[in-house]
Amino acid sequence: MTKAAVMYNYNEPLKVESVELRGLRPEEVLVKMAASGVCHSDLSLLQGKIPMPPPAVLGHEGAAIVEEVGSAVTDLKPGDHVVLSWAADCGKCAYCLKGKPYLCTMSHQGFMEGTEGTFRKDGIEIFRMTGIATFSERSVVRAASCIKIPSDIPLDRACLIGCGVMTGVGAAINTARIRPGDTVAVFGCGGVGLNVIQGAALCGAEKIIAVDLVDRKLQWAKEFGATDVINGAQVDAPDAIRGLTDGLGVDYAFEVIGVQAAITQAIWSLRRGGAAVIVGVPQVGQDITAPGAMFGLEEKSLLGCLYGSGNLRRDIPYLLSLYMQKRLKLDELISRRIKLEEINAAFEAMEKGEVARSVIVYS
Ligand SMILES: [Zn+2]
Ligand SMILES: [Zn+2]
Repeated sequence: MTKAAVMYNYNEPLKVESVELRGLRPEEVLVKMAASGVCHSDLSLLQGKIPMPPPAVLGHEGAAIVEEVGSAVTDLKPGDHVVLSWAADCGKCAYCLKGKPYLCTMSHQGFMEGTEGTFRKDGIEIFRMTGIATFSERSVVRAASCIKIPSDIPLDRACLIGCGVMTGVGAAINTARIRPGDTVAVFGCGGVGLNVIQGAALCGAEKIIAVDLVDRKLQWAKEFGATDVINGAQVDAPDAIRGLTDGLGVDYAFEVIGVQAAITQAIWSLRRGGAAVIVGVPQVGQDITAPGAMFGLEEKSLLGCLYGSGNLRRDIPYLLSLYMQKRLKLDELISRRIKLEEINAAFEAMEKGEVARSVIVYS
């Protein structure tokens, strides 16, 4: 048994209750969750914007301690500290062989995984978000989801690397490959957007222009390295961005919200040769439109970005080492530390723009 926060219906509060947790298969690991961030994608699932049939245990940004390993697991042992990756990689599919483990066939099958019967309540199977379900005190996960980390790193901060930091910093470093001197705009300054900003700063971007509708978030953006801020509720953001870049626009415009209007604005903020990087996840079925001539006549492009295009086994330890060297901010991302029972209030705070991240700390 374990205590977990279960989604029984879209747009209804999660129910925190005891559920059954099945035993280990050979390639699996039982983990005791130490901490889990509450990410916007959890809310998107709850709102049905990213479809996953309830009932489901949500949560996909976790750090944990290994309690038990399956018979085929050789590289982990009880007591190991791990960050949980929501893209377990198989190491042998076409994507893994191409050096893109975040696109692994296995993780995409397991993305909205529920068929493995990990959690049950009253004989009903409960889905497990991205194969890790971090809104649970204990979880059964594939060994391939576990990235071992040094045990001296605080787990309430390490968990943030599992989604928001990897996605945001990775979008800057891996997806866009920002060069020193490049100009950057970031649409959306929540938990992921702030990490795009600090990733762009790590890459040596000359200008980092943060755009949001909430002044509090623009203040955070400055603390994470934005050189300029624009409140998109007050001015036309693409116009303002051109005003800050000699009339040219930016080399990279990141959209981190998944909203059609913001994606359009990101596209209109580009200079010739620039790229819009789509990090946010638009509601399923939503199209984005762009002027066709921008590709052939202006060499602009659109780049998709999943999980910061991260090579998780390389990048998660790398990002944690930057944190330990005080070159990457994690403490400042945590607005609130909460108990699992406070999860629904955390979603409300997220919708109101009150928090960069709420982090569930398990006892
Ligand atoms: Zn996430
Ligand atoms: Zn693979």
